[in-house]
Amino acid sequence: MEIVVLRLGHRPERDKRITTHVGLVARALGARGMILASEDKGVERSIKEVTKRWGGDFFVQIDTKWREELKEWKREGGRVCHLTMYGENILDVIDEIRKETKKEEARIMVVIGAEKVPYDVFEVADWNIAVSNQPHSEIAALALFLDYLQQGKELKTKFEHAQMEIVPKRKGKKVMIKE
Ligand code: SAM
Repeated sequence: MEIVVLRLGHRPERDKRITTHVGLVARALGARGMILASEDKGVERSIKEVTKRWGGDFFVQIDTKWREELKEWKREGGRVCHLTMYGENILDVIDEIRKETKKEEARIMVVIGAEKVPYDVFEVADWNIAVSNQPHSEIAALALFLDYLQQGKELKTKFEHAQMEIVPKRKGKKVMIKE
């Protein structure tokens, strides 16, 4: 399954840290990449630096025409999951989403907002999903959704071409520096 995160409404003057964390969570929890509707080279650079050091092939695309990205994604058969507190509760739809996307070639675009999300996103989405119907954070919503979708399998992903790798320890810190 290919998962890509579309981050809408990023305001470079106030959302840098949150959007960077959205990207890091997406990368760590099994997404292939993040598409950012606005331009922010700083966010792109930070996430690329992490990927260079810690491995994998996560991509970041900035300054995109997101409506066209969505249209193209759907035209090619991809599905769209919009995370919003106004949607259907994740517990009520996750089985349906897993069933409809269980083929290896399935593609899911996960849309998250910052400020108010335009109404056409609600229309184009195959699922509008609430990770509880209470307001909270795009980072938390994304993390929980990715975990429910992949049933925890993403937590054991091996990242290729890493310069550094953690050797898990009950106490202390051990990092292996690779050639
Ligand atoms: N005020 C904005 C609105 O009315 O759309 C939402 C702001 S919220 C901090 C930013 C993003 O977090 C939302 O666009 C949504 O993607 C995500 N989010 C927040 N709470 C959520 C929830 N309970 N379930 C799913 N996503 C949520």
